[in-house]
Amino acid sequence: MSTRERAPVARFETRQGIRVYRFPVETFPSHYNNLYLVDDDDRLTLVDVGSRADSTRRDITAGLEEIASLWGRRYALRDVSDVVITHAHMDHSGNAGYFVQETRARVWVHELDARVLSAYEERMVVASKDLGIFLDRSGVGPAVKQQLMAMYTMSKYMLNFSSVEMADRLTDTMTIGNGYQVFHTPGHCPGEICLLVDNVLFTGDHVLSQTTPHQSPECITLFCGLRRYLESLDKIHRVGGVELALGGHEDVIPNVYGRIHEIRQFHLQRLDRVRAMCREPRTVWDVTQELFAGRLDGYGQILGIEEAGAHVEYLYQLGELTIANLDEVQRSDNPVLYYRARS
Ligand SMILES: [Zn+2]
Ligand SMILES: [Zn+2]
Repeated sequence: MSTRERAPVARFETRQGIRVYRFPVETFPSHYNNLYLVDDDDRLTLVDVGSRADSTRRDITAGLEEIASLWGRRYALRDVSDVVITHAHMDHSGNAGYFVQETRARVWVHELDARVLSAYEERMVVASKDLGIFLDRSGVGPAVKQQLMAMYTMSKYMLNFSSVEMADRLTDTMTIGNGYQVFHTPGHCPGEICLLVDNVLFTGDHVLSQTTPHQSPECITLFCGLRRYLESLDKIHRVGGVELALGGHEDVIPNVYGRIHEIRQFHLQRLDRVRAMCREPRTVWDVTQELFAGRLDGYGQILGIEEAGAHVEYLYQLGELTIANLDEVQRSDNPVLYYRARS
């Protein structure tokens, strides 16, 4: 099951009998997220809120209806006491304003992602500048850069999001609700968190059942980057007793420890490939073309160059790649960087 498929409505129960209901929402055209309702008989917690798209509202209503008809529990959004946003990507968080403004729920987001929601317009301006510098250094060339930047700006504009004040901040190791434990797991997103409810772990986009979560370099956004991500995988691996993991997309993860191993292996293999490519000097754009030969189109090109950039950056951080055109770098303001593997 990919992010392009709708997971069925489902009910799970933790070891202590806390009920968890999953329902899918279409957050962008043909892009599906899982939302979860956690009912421990005292508090009702919603994990993730979906996007600003009308399809999110439509599917929340449909999901609650289906839960009522399948299991005889009629939940309403006004009964939610806590909303937990796993991270501030718009498919997980775009609908936050509804809960902040229209319900009495506390709406929680990690302190490093709160700014994305509460100063969204500022963040978009700064993030697109940082992306532009990254594209220059990656060697995409002016024509492709212009095309990618236009696509980036357009996609953010289409989200139709406006800033909302986020007062309830999550930090690592804190607990919310009835002892649900927060783990800060930066990498895919600066403020990504996992939430442990009894023996069930909500993983957002940190660990997914099928997709290897997208990576982008730390030089665009601090607290992203492959190094952070791999550390955060280790962090979750050390959390004992997880018997079921539930991601923000796709299907259940029965064995989170095994899945973490697979994702780690995937990145190690990709790092090997990048190292091999850089036996000859390569830009990040060259690496992108070789990694994803002909398979990228539309916004996928931005995701692809970010993914390649994250792997190049990590090898560079470890000293396994060096800059091949240092003289040119010294002379120019924002030069293209050529990387070569240290032999
Ligand atoms: Zn995400
Ligand atoms: Zn996502």
